[in-house]
Amino acid sequence: VPCYRCGRVQTDPVKGASPWARGVVKKEQILICPDCQQEHPQWTGELDRCPSCGGTRLSMVMGSLVCRQCGYEGEELEGHSL
Ligand SMILES: [Zn+2]
Ligand SMILES: [Zn+2]
Repeated sequence: VPCYRCGRVQTDPVKGASPWARGVVKKEQILICPDCQQEHPQWTGELDRCPSCGGTRLSMVMGSLVCRQCGYEGEELEGHSL
């Protein structure tokens, strides 16, 4: 999956924690590279937020939203009406 901002493809995945960040934008799982995270410190503002806790540590699993922060699972997204 390429970076959703610059399109750069993740290379040489290092074992352990990746500097690439994951998130959900408009119900799409996205990745953002470390460069874009630095260039756009407000990048998390573009992410969808958990309707339960407001966190951005979300993933899409089988079409539903899963929050890794509070464990929320569902279809709803705050601030979006699709
Ligand atoms: Zn990027
Ligand atoms: Zn949550």
